[in-house]
Amino acid sequence: MRDYLKFYIDGAWVDPVTPKTAEVINPATEAVSGHISLGSAADIDKAVAAARKAFASWSVSSVKDRLDILKAMKAEYDRRAGELGAAITEEMGAPASLGNGFHVFLGGGHLQTVIEVLETFRFEELRGSTLTRHEPIGVCGLITPWNWPLNQVAVKVFPAIATGCTSVLKPPQLAPYSAQILAEIIHASGLPAGVFNMVQGSGSVLGTALTTHDDVDMISFTGSESIGVQIAKDAAPTVKRVGLELGGKSAIVILDDAALIDNVAGNTAGMMSNSGQTCSANSRMLVPFSRMDDAIAAATKAANEVTVGDPTGNVAMGPVVSKGQYNSIQEYIQKGIDEGDQLIAGGLGRPEGLDKGWFVKPTVFVTTNDSTIAREEIFGPVLVIIGYNDIDHAVEIANDSNFGLAGGVAGLDQEACRDVAKRLRAGLIGINGGFDFHAAFGGYKRSGNGREWGKFGFHEYLEIKSITNYEPA
Ligand code: NAD
Repeated sequence: MRDYLKFYIDGAWVDPVTPKTAEVINPATEAVSGHISLGSAADIDKAVAAARKAFASWSVSSVKDRLDILKAMKAEYDRRAGELGAAITEEMGAPASLGNGFHVFLGGGHLQTVIEVLETFRFEELRGSTLTRHEPIGVCGLITPWNWPLNQVAVKVFPAIATGCTSVLKPPQLAPYSAQILAEIIHASGLPAGVFNMVQGSGSVLGTALTTHDDVDMISFTGSESIGVQIAKDAAPTVKRVGLELGGKSAIVILDDAALIDNVAGNTAGMMSNSGQTCSANSRMLVPFSRMDDAIAAATKAANEVTVGDPTGNVAMGPVVSKGQYNSIQEYIQKGIDEGDQLIAGGLGRPEGLDKGWFVKPTVFVTTNDSTIAREEIFGPVLVIIGYNDIDHAVEIANDSNFGLAGGVAGLDQEACRDVAKRLRAGLIGINGGFDFHAAFGGYKRSGNGREWGKFGFHEYLEIKSITNYEPA
């Protein structure tokens, strides 16, 4: 049982202003796995005041001091990597191989990338007689979701620290454990008091307190479109900068070539990873009509081969995060059936033999791009396959979405892949997969307006100041 009842404010672990706790549920067992305190606006006030006080000195700290601290953080992160992985499995149900693997790798990779970027980042540039300075924006409110809990915190907290900002983090109530351990790691690094603060609790209470706060200069939010819209409205009266990293309904175009069957199979299994709860998951797969039979056979086989079960064991897929998420996914599967979409794998209910825990069957439909399940973000292991006539048609379908977070193209002809990649209206396109910590991550359209990762993530936290006649001619 984990009981994380204190908040991290001004360099110390402190009690909430008003004691109130909530249970944290293990999604694989439905049992209580621990408790957190639920903060109030008064806790946010304390955390923001600490961050404001610390900003005076941290904003003018040297790059060397910041690098030393970030490197100490990385050493401590590596030392506690196993604890982070176990916490992620317990809080949101990622299989141990994924929790200890990619989840932990991502958090540490972002920290290492921030160190590398900071080593060469130019905070000042002289152009002619004008000096351009990139200055820390101030006190930042960081609000994160549960789906890649460590990654989402890492892509906000580390660049904020590196750029000289101070921050208050509000982690997801459903998955609060990895953030707690990360706060302990940050504390152990010797970061000055108040530079980083963390308050746990509900989004409607703490999120609103942060977004409406007079003394918060910017909000970085990752989560759903609907809450992103609410945050933008709440932040408007104080004219804060708001970075939004929202949902997606990304499309992967499978080209018509000898690799089609492998590409369909690989991308079907890939989409089910993390139980489909990945904002950038390619949840629409576009295949040539002429190869639809091959695609159906390959996707059905791949989905049926995904092993689902106890995430502490050797499985490919654990549960989804909560009862609410399970119910929402079931409703989408039912909607697909009701609308006449062709179910080719999975379907309603839990996988056979799993009577407890929020387990969903790896599910695949064949449908058209106007169906509900092709247009809305399901955020579960539900893939839709859509046929296309030719490449122009594939691009048209891929771009016919309110979202534009990510996408992909899979095929043997690199030139053809490049052509499709350039035509897709989304922020991150993978040609036959690929991964790069220095690539910008963020969306077009209703997938948001921010860009995180690498040096792009630094600019989220920086103001631009011009000083003219700095070097008189
Ligand atoms: P969510 O929007 O429900 O919650 C995200 C965070 O916002 C949580 O910490 C929550 O407590 C908080 N929150 C809730 N109400 C709030 C309010 N009124 N004001 C301020 N904060 C509030 O999202 P979720 O269910 O935790 O995460 C899933 C969503 O996140 C999906 O839509 C997914 O696509 C998206 N996501 C996007 C990215 C990206 O980088 N673009 C990455 C991961 C997840």
